[in-house]
Amino acid sequence: MRTSPNIIITGTPGVGKTTHAELLAESTGLQHLSINKISEERNCTDGRDEELQTWIVDEDKLLDAIEPECLAGGVIIDWHACDLFPKSWIDLVVVIRCDSTLLYDRLSARKYSEKKLDENMDAEIMQVLLDEARDAYDEEIVVELWSNEGEDVEANVGRIVQWVDNWKKDSGRRDGAEADGKEKGGEDD
Ligand code: ADP
Repeated sequence: MRTSPNIIITGTPGVGKTTHAELLAESTGLQHLSINKISEERNCTDGRDEELQTWIVDEDKLLDAIEPECLAGGVIIDWHACDLFPKSWIDLVVVIRCDSTLLYDRLSARKYSEKKLDENMDAEIMQVLLDEARDAYDEEIVVELWSNEGEDVEANVGRIVQWVDNWKKDSGRRDGAEADGKEKGGEDD
């Protein structure tokens, strides 16, 4: 049983996942798992897509690499895909959204190729990540949060911090109730 929740922060590249995940980790003490970094550091890549200038991630290797941390609980998974992580690992999925004109500026600043920029713009406009999250996880654990301006980040992170506090309180109550149940069961025997 986890005593801290696991949270996915997902969305199209450039929407603000890392900005949110870093502030959330700072505010809660949860561990930020940047999947881009981890895939490289823990040898979970399977070559490079030169056209899109990204690593191709070997998903099986990645899941094996992060499983111990996910089972222990208390991680923030930061990646532009979410449906590969087992449902049983995940307590909350936050899909960060961004207005497409703002996203265009952010991605242009990264000097993405035209193809990569177009693909990501289309994905955001078509809400691909939100649909992926809703298909893969129970509706009630998927939350869509908009991140257009600087103050949105603090407000969004504040909401998630509150959610983490509530999750921990509920989890304490659940554990207490379970322990009571066991004790009562023992008396009946
Ligand atoms: P991602 O991890 O989704 O690729 P980042 O967190 O790296 O996105 O953010 C991309 C860029 O957008 C960064 O320069 C970041 O400072 C900026 N940014 C993120 N969120 C906001 C926001 N709410 N308002 C203004 N700029 C933002």
